[in-house]
Amino acid sequence: ERKQLRRLRREPSKTLDGVDIRLYANAESREDVAEAHALGAAGVGLYRTEFLFLQGRRIPDEEEQFRAYRDLVLGMTGRTVTIRTLDIGADKADETGLALRHEPNPAMGLRGVRLSMARDGLLLTQLRAIVRASGYGPVRVLVPMISGREEVLAVRALLDRAQRELRAAGHGTAERIPFGAMIEVPSAAIALPAFVRELDFISIGTNDLVQYLLAADRNNDALGDLYSPLHPAVIRLLHGVVRIARGRGMPVSVCGEIAGDARFTPLLLALGLEELSLHPSPLLEVRRAIRALDLGHLRARLPTLLRARDRAGLERWLDAAQPLHA
Ligand code: PEP
Ligand code: MG
Repeated sequence: ERKQLRRLRREPSKTLDGVDIRLYANAESREDVAEAHALGAAGVGLYRTEFLFLQGRRIPDEEEQFRAYRDLVLGMTGRTVTIRTLDIGADKADETGLALRHEPNPAMGLRGVRLSMARDGLLLTQLRAIVRASGYGPVRVLVPMISGREEVLAVRALLDRAQRELRAAGHGTAERIPFGAMIEVPSAAIALPAFVRELDFISIGTNDLVQYLLAADRNNDALGDLYSPLHPAVIRLLHGVVRIARGRGMPVSVCGEIAGDARFTPLLLALGLEELSLHPSPLLEVRRAIRALDLGHLRARLPTLLRARDRAGLERWLDAAQPLHA
């Protein structure tokens, strides 16, 4: 069984009816990047830069960040690397050099892009390091915790500035650096038409989207089944976001844990997703599921999925959609 799975390292992630589903890796360490490369990931779909800020309890400067991002880009040998700007909040108050204040409600506090913009120079320094790394291979910039248009415009302007200044200083940078938003705050998912034009791609963060949509803490075991993507509100919102992106021919992926759980693969494909980003460890299992699924058949079952009224109904849909090998 393990050996059979290993064989899939060099096989394409193609459905039975021949559609290529691109599997990107979530990564935060050198080991993840090496594994992603070895498993034939299409690229890195989510590089969590928090890691750099959580080692050493100090803020890494531009040079240190640049070296880390450049090594990441070189490690993926020409495959696209998606670097997410810092996503840290008060839940990590004691672990960084950012002197974060304790907050009563860190998940809804100064976190992600909010913190990056609140601190002088923090975001510009990070964007400059990313832009410099773009001289070594294809790079995309991804911004976490976007809640609306203002943040998108502000970060985009800062990215433009970093590119302008570095080019003027003679740095070799990519001609174009695609700019994307994490869709993980419900307001961003709902108001997406108001700012989708400002974006080059979208990555849906289901971990937080589910948490905020259902008012269910992603880390609170006491909530039992309440924290789950199997809720009609989640399905409808995902469907809406994917439709808007696909309608514009814009790349859209899911990078939450759900993308790394092969049981949910039929559901994500039915919703129209053709790009997923997941931790390397379940990548081959998800690839195996994709290769045993018929996309045309799943798309035909989308109306049934959208009609499911509760968790039990969604579970039934999922059970019926599992590939035969499972
Ligand atoms: C998410 O929220 O789904 C996500 C991928 O980001 P993180 O888990 O880092 O919050
Ligand atoms: Mg998140």
